[in-house]
Amino acid sequence: MLLVHKYGGTSVGSLERIENVASRVAKAKDAGNDLVIVVSAMSGETNKLIEYAEYFTKTPSKREMDILLSSGERVTASLLSIALQSKGYDAIAMTGRQAGIITDDLHTYARIESINTQPMQDALKEGKIVIVAGFQGINKNGCVTTLGRGGSDLSAVAIAGALKADACEIYSDVDGIYTTDPRIEPKAKKIDMISYDEMLEMASMGAKVLQNRSVELAKKLDIKLYAKSSFSEGEGTLITKENNIMEQVLVSGVVLDKNQARVTLRNVSDKPGIAAEIFTKLAQENINVDMIIQNVGIDGSTNLGFTVPQSDLENAKRVIEGLEHDIGGMDFDKNICKVSVVGVGMKSHAGVAAKAFSTLAASNINIEMISTSEIKVSMAISAKYGELAVRLLHEAYGLDA
Ligand code: ASP
Ligand code: MG
Repeated sequence: MLLVHKYGGTSVGSLERIENVASRVAKAKDAGNDLVIVVSAMSGETNKLIEYAEYFTKTPSKREMDILLSSGERVTASLLSIALQSKGYDAIAMTGRQAGIITDDLHTYARIESINTQPMQDALKEGKIVIVAGFQGINKNGCVTTLGRGGSDLSAVAIAGALKADACEIYSDVDGIYTTDPRIEPKAKKIDMISYDEMLEMASMGAKVLQNRSVELAKKLDIKLYAKSSFSEGEGTLITKENNIMEQVLVSGVVLDKNQARVTLRNVSDKPGIAAEIFTKLAQENINVDMIIQNVGIDGSTNLGFTVPQSDLENAKRVIEGLEHDIGGMDFDKNICKVSVVGVGMKSHAGVAAKAFSTLAASNINIEMISTSEIKVSMAISAKYGELAVRLLHEAYGLDA
C-alpha cells in the first residue's frame, strides 16, 4: 500500500519523540508499505518563530514570515530522515519546493494549486521513505509560501490526493475523534467512523484534531482519512464518505464552543437592506458571524441577534457603532457558549432537535438562540451551563459509554 502519514507538532516535539516516530515509520516500512511522511514543526516552534519576528515589528512582511516559518518543518523533516537513516533505512527529506508543491501567491495563507509528484515518485520507486516538510510550498515565482496555521494536515491530504495514496493517516497525541471532549464527559467514546460533513461540523466547533481545510480537501478528493495517535496503537477514527458508513447513528457527537459572544441589536428598522448592510460590513472586517436570529417586526422595527467569536467582539462593536441606520439599542454578552449536536442521522429522523430542547429544559437551562443545519442543532446558552449541557445531551442521545 501507498500510505501518507502526517505527524503533528506534539508527536515530533522532542528528539526522543522524533526517534519514536522513526521507529513507527520503520515498522510500517517493514510491513511492506510505500511511505510519504509529512511533518509539522516541533510543538511550540512556529509560535516561537512568530515571536522572534514580532520582537522587531508587529507587522512583519508576509513574504519574509513565510521563509521564517517554513524553517520549522524543515528541521523536523531533516531530523526524521537522519533518524531513519541511522536505523539503516533509506529515507530522503524534501522541502515543499523539492516535493513539487506549487501554491498561489497568498503569503502565510497560500492555497495549493498543483503538485509535481515526479520527485516523490522517483524516490518511492527507488524504495526510499519520502519525508516532506509540511505547511509549505512555493509560488510561481519560486518564493516560499506557507499554508496557514495547522497547514501540515493540508499538505498531507493534498499529497495523498496527488499520489493517489491508499490512505492518509494524521497522527497526533489523541487516538481519534470522540463523541465529545473526554475532559468534559469521561464517558465519551472514540468514534470508529465518521462522515466528512460531520467531521467538518465538529472541527469548526472546537474538536481540533484535524485542520478544517484538510477535511474539506479530503472530502473533495475522496481520500480515506484517519485520525490516530502516535503514542499508542489502535485503529483511530476513519473519516470517510457518508455512504461508506454502515451503521448510521442518529447523533455522532456533542460539541461545546466557549469562544462565542452574543450581539443583540434592538429596535432596528424593519425594511430592506438593513441586514445586508450589517452583515456586509462585518464580513468586510473578516468577522465570522455564526448564529443569527431576527424576530418578526412589530410597528416597523425588529430585534436582531447574532454570535461572533469572542476575539472579534470589539471589532464587531466598532462596526455596529459606525452603521448608518438607526439602531434603538444594543448589548453584548460574552458569557454565552454554544452547544451543538451533530449527526447525519438527523437528515432522515424527526425529533432530534426537540429532544435537545427538552433535555435542556428538564434541567432548567434557558436556550437563548438556536440555529440548525441539515446535520446539526446548535444552541446558545449561558456559559456557566456549557459543560453540564454537554453531559446531559451526551446521555440523552445514548452516547455514554
Ligand atoms: N507548524 C504549523 C503550525 O503550527 C503548521 C502545522 O503544525 O500544521 O501552524
Ligand atoms: Mg498541527
